[in-house]
Amino acid sequence: MTGRPVRTGRGTGQASAGELLELVRSRRAVTRGALQQATGLSRATVGQRLDRLFRAGWLREGAGGPVDSPLGGRPSITLEFDDEHAVVLASDLDTRHARAAVLSLSGEILAEHSGTLVVEDGPDVVLGELGRWFGELLEKTGRGAESVCGVGLAVPGPVDTETGRVVQPPIMPGWDGYDIRSRLARALTEHTGAAAVPVLVDNDANLMAYGEQRTGYPDCSAFVLVKVSTGIGAGVVVDGAVFRGIDGGAGDIGHIRVPEGAQTLCRCGSYGCLAAIASGGAVARRLAEAGVPAASGSDVRDLLASGHPEAVGLAREAGRRVGDVLATVVTLLNPGVLMIAGDLAGTPFLTGVRELLYQRALPRSTAHLDVVTARLGERSGLVGAGAMVVEHLYAPERVEERLRALGV
Ligand SMILES: [Zn+2]
Repeated sequence: MTGRPVRTGRGTGQASAGELLELVRSRRAVTRGALQQATGLSRATVGQRLDRLFRAGWLREGAGGPVDSPLGGRPSITLEFDDEHAVVLASDLDTRHARAAVLSLSGEILAEHSGTLVVEDGPDVVLGELGRWFGELLEKTGRGAESVCGVGLAVPGPVDTETGRVVQPPIMPGWDGYDIRSRLARALTEHTGAAAVPVLVDNDANLMAYGEQRTGYPDCSAFVLVKVSTGIGAGVVVDGAVFRGIDGGAGDIGHIRVPEGAQTLCRCGSYGCLAAIASGGAVARRLAEAGVPAASGSDVRDLLASGHPEAVGLAREAGRRVGDVLATVVTLLNPGVLMIAGDLAGTPFLTGVRELLYQRALPRSTAHLDVVTARLGERSGLVGAGAMVVEHLYAPERVEERLRALGV
């Protein structure tokens, strides 16, 4: 379930309630006996720690009935994470539209809404409206505001995940350094009456990659997702965790310089960026110049869906240009899966990517590579944002503090 190594305190008798929870959640140990064996804790200590997790409502008995215990003796009751004791709110912001949902703790979407939300209107307007959406969605699920444990937000720009603020975003004017967490928590309180809950923010391509890797390719230890919508970005998941680099800048491939773009000004202010010639925004501009009404990546997606011949031709050409850059990405990272997502993800673009990728990359780096489109479709970012919140809140290092706050 989590690809992260678990520190079990094996043999030291020191494993915390949080570490027991992690063992159960990852299904590495789901009976009292297996937990004793995995941690070296005594039967009584395992019992006390599980007791607290039960009182918090975080654990329940498994539906499957008793199983044989590794310690012998009577068959034992299985334990599982209770994914219904709270819900997560998640949203995926794109430049001109957004998607929001209420999710269970295991990532099931309980209620969902998508609509127009324009990031250029600025964070105060956008996050206020998002709070209203969340209020309506919660009402639909019949869950109270007190059941919300946290909010995850995916944004189309680079994020400092320590502060939850976007950093010099090329396509989010007015958002640079803005305190997203406080504003969204306040909007949520205004519209639901919920007490302030943790708000976590990350880049959309990172969260899409995280959502897709966990749900579709949990055993893939090197996973790359490229989102091609109005801009271009990539998310990299290594050994089950998002690889962000030192400053959160890993994967920002849209602003790699390519010779074909030398004369084209990018929205970041530079000339020659990949995104300036091969993104959904760039394709929309080329279409508009040819008299086809298109202003954004989502307009291009609609044209592609109807098989518009000029859109198809330009998407394939954009795919070739992105594929050329991806040959370098694949050579550097040697991923098992390269997933193409976003407005342009479809056969013409993918065909273009494959043409250049296999031509330019070393055979060794593509021998076991799957080039695929997103499995969760439009929902990858939502699922990834929800999972980020759950992994953060139920991480062993945070469990003790949260249990104490609950008074158990
Ligand atoms: Zn640029």
